[in-house]
Amino acid sequence: MIESKFGHRDSKGNYKPNKRISYPPVFVWPVKPLAAIKWLVSIPGYFFPWNSIYVGIGLVVWFFLSPSFEDYATPDFKLVLFTFSRNSLLVLLYFGIFHYRLYVQRVQNADFKFNPRWPSKNAKQFMFGNQNIDNIILTFGSGVTIWTIFEIGILCFAAKNSFNIINVKQDLFYFIAMIFLIHLWRDLHFYLIHRLLHFKPLYSLAHRIHHKNTNPGPWSGLAMHPIEHLFYFSCALLYLFFPFHPAFIIITLVHAGLSPAPGHVGFERIKLADEKSFDADSYAHYLHHKYFECNYADGILPLDRWFGTLHDGSDESQYRLSERLKKRNRRKIHT
Ligand SMILES: [Zn+2]
Ligand SMILES: [Zn+2]
Repeated sequence: MIESKFGHRDSKGNYKPNKRISYPPVFVWPVKPLAAIKWLVSIPGYFFPWNSIYVGIGLVVWFFLSPSFEDYATPDFKLVLFTFSRNSLLVLLYFGIFHYRLYVQRVQNADFKFNPRWPSKNAKQFMFGNQNIDNIILTFGSGVTIWTIFEIGILCFAAKNSFNIINVKQDLFYFIAMIFLIHLWRDLHFYLIHRLLHFKPLYSLAHRIHHKNTNPGPWSGLAMHPIEHLFYFSCALLYLFFPFHPAFIIITLVHAGLSPAPGHVGFERIKLADEKSFDADSYAHYLHHKYFECNYADGILPLDRWFGTLHDGSDESQYRLSERLKKRNRRKIHT
């Protein structure tokens, strides 16, 4: 398996995949119902592999690794410590696997790595001059902390107010449908808050911290300013407006907390044994980190295509982006 089967390197050594960023055959006209159904159940598709990982982990966490729902009504120090430690462990294991294999062991060297450089160990924009240390401090110090605050806060509120909790057995179809839709909601929520975070005052105050990572690695995924974490994890609040099950909150937060690791992995494909590899689904967001003003969405909803900000990796997209930025700068000069 060599990367030249999937892409090429430019004169500066940057890896450019041949594939173009595209969307599933769902939001197309004329409609393609058979292709859409196939995509729902195929690998890779809507649910497999990535979405199913977060749903699976979320279900295990709620049913086997969480305090009882009633206990959340009066959270004590033990509950807070347990929840923070469990979330930290999830992040450490999940982010750690990507980091250890690709950046410590370097099992595939720089094959499929977009940017040929490794994370910076001597750059003054990062805490202690070290990108990984900076990213890890923000991930646990702010990211996991705010994730835990949302989890305990929402479940405490729900438990105290005796929400109408659904019964999984009796409402199995509703339970499965809600879990199935979490990915879609997260895509839409991420797009909306991300556009907001690129609004200048919020960008200067918060989002620029995440964008220090122009050459992201797995730990860059949750490396955000606390204000951005508040926006980011607020996705779980939606479920208070529907017939409720605590698992919805846990799965949504696990989805938000863990999915940034492969999303920022810095490699297009991850190699397995036997010359096989799989797509990390990180190209669109890598281009966002590289060029800033494109690919605000990071998923299956074609929001960037609808709003004219899609960069699919082609030279034409690059040209359109530079024209758009030139036009915007001209407008700025005239106002
Ligand atoms: Zn990012
Ligand atoms: Zn951004």
